[in-house]
Amino acid sequence: METRTWQGLPCLIGGLPGKILEATGADACYAFGRLVFRSKETWNDKHTRHHELAHHKQAQADPLFSLKYLLESALNGYEGNAYEVDADAYADAALRRCRKRSRSSASRRSRRRR
Ligand SMILES: [Zn+2]
Repeated sequence: METRTWQGLPCLIGGLPGKILEATGADACYAFGRLVFRSKETWNDKHTRHHELAHHKQAQADPLFSLKYLLESALNGYEGNAYEVDADAYADAALRRCRKRSRSSASRRSRRRR
C-alpha cells in the first residue's frame, strides 16, 4: 500500500484497502477522513480524486453525512444518490478549472515567446 497526501488529506493507494474496494467494485472511496484508491490507476484519475475530495467536503459540512449518504443510496441507488451527483458535478467543475488554467498559462507562455 502506498500513502500520499493530497489537498491536505491522507490518501491510501492499493494494498489491502485497495483489494477491499476491488471486491466491492469501487474505484475509490472516502472513509474515516481518508481518500482510498483501489490502485495507482484510479489514483491517477483526476476526476476520481476530485470526486472523493467532494465527499470529504460533504462530510466536513454535515456531521450526519455518512448516515444521510446511506439513506440516499437506499432511496435512490448509487446513480441517483444526491451526494454522488454533487460529487461528480464538483469533479467536473474542478477539471474544467484545471483545463482553463492550463490553457491560460499556455497562452501566457506563447505570448512570452513572441
Ligand atoms: Zn462518490
